[in-house]
Amino acid sequence: MRPFTYERAADLAQASRLGLETGQGQTDARVQFLAGGTTLIDLMKLDVLRPERVVDITPLRSPYATIEAGPNGLRLGALAKMSTVAEHPAVLADYPAISQSLQLAASAQLRNMATLGGNVLQRTRCPYYRDPSWMACNKRTPGSGCAAIAGFNRNHAVLGVDRSCISQYPGDFGVALVALDAQIELSGPQGQRRIAFASLHRPVEGQPHIETTLMPGEVITAFQVTAGGWARRSLYLKVRDRASYEFAIASAAVALEMDGEIVRQARIGLGGMAYRPWRAHEAEAVLTGKPLTEASAEAAAAAALGGAVTHGNNAYKPELGRRTLVRALMQAKTMPVATRKDC
Ligand SMILES: Cc1cc2nc3c(=O)[nH]c(=O)nc-3n(C[C@H](O)[C@H](O)[C@H](O)COP(=O)(O)OP(=O)(O)OC[C@H]3O[C@@H](n4cnc5c(N)ncnc54)[C@H](O)[C@@H]3O)c2cc1C
Repeated sequence: MRPFTYERAADLAQASRLGLETGQGQTDARVQFLAGGTTLIDLMKLDVLRPERVVDITPLRSPYATIEAGPNGLRLGALAKMSTVAEHPAVLADYPAISQSLQLAASAQLRNMATLGGNVLQRTRCPYYRDPSWMACNKRTPGSGCAAIAGFNRNHAVLGVDRSCISQYPGDFGVALVALDAQIELSGPQGQRRIAFASLHRPVEGQPHIETTLMPGEVITAFQVTAGGWARRSLYLKVRDRASYEFAIASAAVALEMDGEIVRQARIGLGGMAYRPWRAHEAEAVLTGKPLTEASAEAAAAAALGGAVTHGNNAYKPELGRRTLVRALMQAKTMPVATRKDC
């Protein structure tokens, strides 16, 4: 690991000031925030991230790790631990996709350490990104190429990719957030702002080294999800190579508002398939206003994966993605849902 300066932020203003050189969404910025450290320290040890300064934001935990659930929705502090949120009674009852996406991620030890803010900003598990002995990685070294395109790409993305990068977004929680139309609260040197979670991660567009729309010094302070019947009828289905402690090769977050057999609203996120947390609007359009049957679920899944681009080893992915989505939709249709008068 390379030498770096360590500083503890006493408050949000100091965190933003010390973090000013975090760059504009650049993956390898000169300043990094330390929350749970489970991505950051890992990648520093691998010599992938080489920050000159690490700003510890754990002192902000007490104001920014709270969980508030009310009739209008859910607000999750960005420094809340994954395990705490996964087990919260209101999250379990009214936002099952969120609870499941966190519960099915990583290991118990990691979930006890890692925060929500760090989770959505975790980096890809692409082996060519994580091993600096590979020269060609546009995400690490802009302009160097993408070793994965002609390399071992079994776990790589099939949606939202281009010739500059085919890496896969590895997180689970972000897939639930994008499906549930979450908003995020940000605080930085220019003040506070709120944006759709869907606009946090940038499309690749030939610039895989710029991953997010965060401004220099901006800290994620909270996530917000609106309450509703669709949030209660939501689930997260994760398919992986082994039953626990593994990243998704395919996943689907599904939230449905049903009127009998008819889909009034569908919200669908896909994981394990795409360059960033993926919202499947095409699939939602196929389902809306129609009865949810095996046939309509298959048509929706075909629309969701219609634009898939494969590169050899990952040729199995579109079919796995389709089957995962069909299964998630059929499970969501029949899941027991508590009725709430207060939502
Ligand atoms: C072996 C292993 C298996 C895993 N399996 C899974 C899995 O199956 N599913 C899954 O989803 N994840 C998985 N993970 C990833 C894990 O969930 C993340 O490492 C973790 O959530 C990151 O959170 P953290 O608080 O430790 O972030 P940190 O490592 O502290 O920070 C990560 C990044 O986020 C930035 N950051 C952190 N907090 C903020 C904030 N509030 N505002 C702005 N920037 C911030 C930091 O600057 C840094 O760049 C796995 C990790 C490991 C090591």
